[in-house]
Amino acid sequence: MNYYSLNKKAPDVSFKDAVIKGIAPDRGLYFPEQIAPLPDSFFENIEELSNEEIAFNAIHQFVSDEIPNEKLREILANVLDFDFPVVELEDDVATLELFHGPTMAFKDVGARFMANCLGYFSEDATNEVTVLVATSGDTGGAVANGFLGVEGVKVVILYPSGKVSDIQERQLTTLGQNITALEVDGTFDDCQKMVKTAFLDEALLSNMQLTSANSINVARWLPQLFYFLFAYKQAKSKDKKIVFSVPSGNFGNICAGLVAQKLGMPVKQFVAATNINDTVPEFMKTGSYNPKPSKATISNAMDVGDPSNFIRIRHLFKDNFEALAQNLTSYTFTDDETKEALKLIYKNSNYVADPHGAVGYLGLKSYQSTHPNTYGIFLETAHPVKFLDVVEETIPEKLAIPTQIQKVMGKEKKSIPIKIYDDLKSFLLH
Ligand SMILES: *Cc1c(COP(=O)(O)O)cnc(C)c1O
Repeated sequence: MNYYSLNKKAPDVSFKDAVIKGIAPDRGLYFPEQIAPLPDSFFENIEELSNEEIAFNAIHQFVSDEIPNEKLREILANVLDFDFPVVELEDDVATLELFHGPTMAFKDVGARFMANCLGYFSEDATNEVTVLVATSGDTGGAVANGFLGVEGVKVVILYPSGKVSDIQERQLTTLGQNITALEVDGTFDDCQKMVKTAFLDEALLSNMQLTSANSINVARWLPQLFYFLFAYKQAKSKDKKIVFSVPSGNFGNICAGLVAQKLGMPVKQFVAATNINDTVPEFMKTGSYNPKPSKATISNAMDVGDPSNFIRIRHLFKDNFEALAQNLTSYTFTDDETKEALKLIYKNSNYVADPHGAVGYLGLKSYQSTHPNTYGIFLETAHPVKFLDVVEETIPEKLAIPTQIQKVMGKEKKSIPIKIYDDLKSFLLH
């Protein structure tokens, strides 16, 4: 399987090269040249398959023979060693819990898959690969955890100072070894811009092999389609049209869900729920795409004003707005609405959601108010404990700290403060 650049001005590359490069030399995102639907029998009999088998069937065409089947199965077993339960909260409303992994956010899946692939590709490489990644909160921890101790790979994480939660910051600044955290005096968009600039900087590129572990990297992005299939497997027997509501920031997660739909998953609609960073809801309303600076919210992992993956979503629908609108609905919610939703979910279902999941819940409810008779699943993208302050000040419950989180609580934060791109550059070249 080859990948082409969405800017169409760079050569096609293999899966391996797409993973190692991260982004194409013309700054375009890589996209698979083909998405071949899985046979109907796969979906008809999906409940007989284990998660690993489902994932293998779904990802195989994208990896092709660049990783031997045996090795790919071994990687999937490593990546998917935790649960992905669909928990029903109300009639026709359920949540897909994606927080049972080591850093308690869905990003564990993509980060671990990418780390395993890059580890495999680096085995016989002589040059070290440097992974450069910008985080709005959860990517940093997932990447740090996934890549910790991977031979031949150095990881540099950029995060916006003061704009990630305390636990998120600990997860990305306390591991050490091959992981370095750069604390940026700016927003997530500033971090993302610096990373993108680095990928165009000849002086850097001639000195080192740089790649990205953001969802622009195909090995981070594509495996996120797995758990939509796992959820479909669990909800299939409901015999109603299934709708997924995905709390979205950079739109990598929902874009992977739409790839699962292209593979043939019989799902009616995707709802992209955002906080007040409403570039996509505005686009779906007006048809014009106007990126804006990101604004800080209580669902900080979605504070993105210019979502990188939206271009992939438009491309999936051949830039046909009507076709896109038939599959994607988008809503925006304020922090106050999000807090009300946290309270409501707690009161009605005795369930503690996190602020991102609560935005997903609101999106689902809005959609279902005009589309009854659907079975809705919103993604609980992180464990509420990662947003302890907001959650505990909104609902009357003290959260227990899970063991995964306890491990980082006592460790010392280590970060290097930076302000501008030149600081990043001199750090990388030192
Ligand atoms: C990253 C993240 C999101 C947004 O996912 P995208 O793929 O960037 O749209 C939502 N919720 C949480 C908890 C996250 O960490």
